[in-house]
Amino acid sequence: QAFVRMSNLSKVYPNGTVALNDVNLDISEGEFISFVGPSGCGKSTIFKLITGLSGHTSGELSILGLTPKEARKANNTSFVFQDHTLLPWSTVIDNVMLPLSLRGDSRKESRKEAERVLEMVGLRDYTKALPRMLSGGMKMRVSIARALVSKPKLLLMDEPFAALDEITRQSLQDELLSIWQQDRSMTVLFVTHNVFEAVFLSSRVAVMTPRPGKISNIVPIDVPYP
Ligand code: ADP
Ligand code: ADP
Repeated sequence: QAFVRMSNLSKVYPNGTVALNDVNLDISEGEFISFVGPSGCGKSTIFKLITGLSGHTSGELSILGLTPKEARKANNTSFVFQDHTLLPWSTVIDNVMLPLSLRGDSRKESRKEAERVLEMVGLRDYTKALPRMLSGGMKMRVSIARALVSKPKLLLMDEPFAALDEITRQSLQDELLSIWQQDRSMTVLFVTHNVFEAVFLSSRVAVMTPRPGKISNIVPIDVPYP
């Protein structure tokens, strides 16, 4: 069974814009798939449909056999975007604990899990820092830790590293790959307009064309994972 199944999936916005046109794609559990294409080709729309923020117009979209809305209730999807939405007046650890606190986990258990993921991203020594004290790369690491803390089955990343300098971006790419390799049951969908980044990170790359919002090619990448 596909983890995410898109068949003949189309999205037309109310103003008539065709954002996705007849997209067919099956994503298996544990894949790391990138969506590459120019601005406006419908990459963010795919994420909006998967998270149930927006409804598709026709075709089928299912996540482990569930509709996006049902999947949303199951609460096993995390999201990372470029402008990390960290709470500015909360410490790093409080930011990372937030998803667990919100679902009612005990403070002790949440703290333990937050420390675990902060260790994974190399920020174990920064638990009490405030976001503004951190560099852009470190803030992104906090965002990734916060996304991982709930042990998501599906991780959606929308241009997460686009605003970072080249060196920081490369180290975050390395870290993300090693995190994904540690837990191959996590499926990652990664949006980027950087072809090199997509090829470096992914097991498959879905190439999208701007009009009319189609996946024009799906390229398997034979990555020599370390
Ligand atoms: P990408 O993420 O690849 O840049 P989007 O999914 O954001 O592309 O957008 C795909 C197309 O749909 C674009 O033409 C965009 O202008 C349009 N679009 C996106 N959101 C909306 C919306 N809420 N209403 C109308 N058109 C939209
Ligand atoms: P819908 O609920 O119709 O599927 P969304 O909820 O995705 O649409 O739309 C989010 C907001 O983005 C809307 O309020 C819409 O006005 C706005 N928007 C309109 N046109 C665009 C566009 N071209 N690109 C991005 N956002 C847009």
